[in-house]
Amino acid sequence: MTMQPAGGALLSETRPPKRSGEPAADDRFLRLSEREEGEGPARLYPLASPTWPSKALRGLLGLLAPARSACGLCGRGFAPSRTSLAGLPEELPRSWSDSVCGSCRSSIPWILRIQCQVCGRPDSCGDCCRRTSAGFIRSRSAVRYTLEMRQLLARYKYRGEEALQPWLADMLLPAYAALAAELRLADRLTGRLSDRLDPDARKGKEPFDLVTSVPVSRQRLAERGFNQAERLAASLAVRAGLTARPLLERKEERGKMSAKTRRERLIAAEGLFEAAPEAAGILRLLAARDPERRRPLRLLVVDDIYTTGGTMDHCALALQRCSPVPIDLYGLTWARA
Ligand SMILES: [Zn+2]
Ligand SMILES: [Zn+2]
Repeated sequence: MTMQPAGGALLSETRPPKRSGEPAADDRFLRLSEREEGEGPARLYPLASPTWPSKALRGLLGLLAPARSACGLCGRGFAPSRTSLAGLPEELPRSWSDSVCGSCRSSIPWILRIQCQVCGRPDSCGDCCRRTSAGFIRSRSAVRYTLEMRQLLARYKYRGEEALQPWLADMLLPAYAALAAELRLADRLTGRLSDRLDPDARKGKEPFDLVTSVPVSRQRLAERGFNQAERLAASLAVRAGLTARPLLERKEERGKMSAKTRRERLIAAEGLFEAAPEAAGILRLLAARDPERRRPLRLLVVDDIYTTGGTMDHCALALQRCSPVPIDLYGLTWARA
């Protein structure tokens, strides 16, 4: 997979200036250090005022001690090991080695092996055989939706901790890389993209033509100020050298999806999504850009959570209905509930 700078993406993302130096986290770390030095239990003997040798010794110890940085996910200070990406999927950027603490790393339940080829579930899946509409072809998710992941997403989505955004976007990379590899393999097997036949394969081009996202309703957008799925899609596009465009709209919904049963969710998702007025034009232009393409346009729909697959399916169906050219739809979500 090629990691490119902002080149291809139409939506820009804002990263904090320096991840490990994120101000809020640094402040927290400073407060911790101050407390360690000044607010500990009352001492029996007064401390001697620092003299020259002890200052020098401290300086020397400071040089020998590993530098501390603030964890990008939890904000706590930790001593990073610059070389270690142990326990992390290899697709993550190297910055994870010195910017995410050991405890956060070990709490991430990566989905590295799947059992259901349709929805990417890591356990046996009864849902996909019951699927009646076939909007998307396959969907993959980065992590299981455990309590820790629920809390992490809530900090970003509901409590406005926007500094988490680049880390959450990075977390999509292993699942994206696995899906892209599946498609490359399938293309090679069907001979569509054999090096001899198609110049795309020689260029190592990504197997998707466009990234889009599951929309939120206007009401949610006003409450939250941003659409988390759209931001994740834009950041993923930057990382993978693809282009991201919102293509869908969502009607106002009655009640929160999270409060509904499986059946209620599936019914509620029906008719909830429609293509944005400009979607058909964008897809037509995209298809016209490469008349030599031997397959339907491939779109990747990004969302934060996959629960029943109803949302993903109805987004895909809305795009199928509007598209003037053949399209294949795939899903990628941050978590699999
Ligand atoms: Zn941490
Ligand atoms: Zn499934």
